[in-house]
Amino acid sequence: MADCIFCKIIAGEIPSSKVYEDDKVLAFLDISQVTPGHTLVVPKEHFRNLLEMDADSSSQLFARVPDIARKVMKATGALGMNIINNNEEVAGQTVFHTHVHLAPRYSGDDDLQLTFTAHEPDFPALVQLAEKIAQA
Ligand code: 5GP
Ligand code: ZN
Repeated sequence: MADCIFCKIIAGEIPSSKVYEDDKVLAFLDISQVTPGHTLVVPKEHFRNLLEMDADSSSQLFARVPDIARKVMKATGALGMNIINNNEEVAGQTVFHTHVHLAPRYSGDDDLQLTFTAHEPDFPALVQLAEKIAQA
């Protein structure tokens, strides 16, 4: 897709530090390196984000993720990894071509901070919301 930076990387028009490539997927180091070894796994076909993908295209993408993640773990000696996918601006998406972040973790105190703020459970509301999602 014209004007998509990841399509340009896939086409070789913009250089990248590739760590894995096959006919469906490319993985390369994120230019920002939130932690050392921070890698992006992208489908070669352009999709705005995961919310636009179907079962086949998303399966092809995610089928590669565990192996690439293990390669990154092995090469970096990381102790763990966050695997993250942002969808739409409100969720932090800045490049609108589907990508999965592999962020190796070396300590809980590095440059990646993820916070899930827990709330007191409202069980009737949970039942209602689950029903609504199930029906959607
Ligand atoms: P998002 O915020 O959309 O989930 O993540 C986009 C990521 O793409 C960011 O972490 C950013 O550093 C990375 N990125 C943006 N432009 C480039 C680029 O030209 N090359 C590489 N390797 N990464 C990029
Ligand atoms: Zn693209």
